[in-house]
Amino acid sequence: MSEISHIETFAVIGSGQMGAGIAQVAAQSGLTVVLYDQQSAAIERATAGISKSLAKLESKGRLPQGESAASVEARITATTDFQALSNADFAVEAIVEDEKIKRGIFAQLDELLNPRAILASNTSSIPITRLCAATQRPDRVIGMHFMNPVPIMTLVELIRGLPTSEETFNHTRILAERFGKTVCESQDYPGFIVNRVLIPFINEACYAVMEGVATPADIDASCKLGLNHPMGPLTLADFIGLDTVLAIMEVLHEGLGDSKYRPCPLLKKYVDAGWTGRKSGRGFYRYE
Ligand code: NAD
Repeated sequence: MSEISHIETFAVIGSGQMGAGIAQVAAQSGLTVVLYDQQSAAIERATAGISKSLAKLESKGRLPQGESAASVEARITATTDFQALSNADFAVEAIVEDEKIKRGIFAQLDELLNPRAILASNTSSIPITRLCAATQRPDRVIGMHFMNPVPIMTLVELIRGLPTSEETFNHTRILAERFGKTVCESQDYPGFIVNRVLIPFINEACYAVMEGVATPADIDASCKLGLNHPMGPLTLADFIGLDTVLAIMEVLHEGLGDSKYRPCPLLKKYVDAGWTGRKSGRGFYRYE
């Protein structure tokens, strides 16, 4: 693979809310996609979600010319077989936000994929330099941070690890643009750009709930009406997943070593209870 146009097979590891969205935009851009998850239930959920999203885009006439929901869907193979990723020229990892597990997956991908393939991570906060070091191709590892929901949000943050090469950066930027995204470049510091600013804001809203300053509904309404945010911080936290919010806050706390980043105890308690937000049916709000 010397040119980005030579990418034929695009792999996505983890078929949760982010992985499914990344697989969808890659297929919409014309790539052949292999979407892998270790859980068959996650694969089934992802496939159903992608079908629904593509049907909606088709009914609104928003698919690329000459494409249908069925033609885009036909480019995606969803599987629980890790070996099915072996032909990929470019892989994006979107599994749970846990450094040890991510390093394990990077080591496995490094062994399985062609040495020229680029390995990207959709991590929200884990240092890319450490993921580079988990492989024998540190120059071909990069952070490619999509926003949620992937088919709608147009930003992709690209993060260079210390050894990431210019060639890897340029290939990844061209690929993100092919997906219709706008790239912002961040240095490899905890939380990168968006989460360095957003997650402490959400954490502060959790403290406000814990201290009884106001109800979640009033905190969200205040931020919508008073700050002109499209969505309140607690609604957004439930949407992101409270486990993911907590994991990012812990990375900021550890990585920056400042007590102002300590995770809110109420946020921890909700995660301990399994109240991880929309995906579990309960977080700061309850969902059907
Ligand atoms: P999720 O919980 O919806 O999905 C994670 C998926 O990974 C699950 O389907 C799980 O079965 C799978 N998985 C876990 N360990 C695995 C392994 N070892 N091998 C294969 N599959 C495995 O999580 P998500 O919200 O999609 O987040 C995924 C990643 O994207 C995280 O790194 C997160 O920080 C990042 N991210 C999340 C958001 C967001 O708003 N949720 C936004 C940007 C980036």
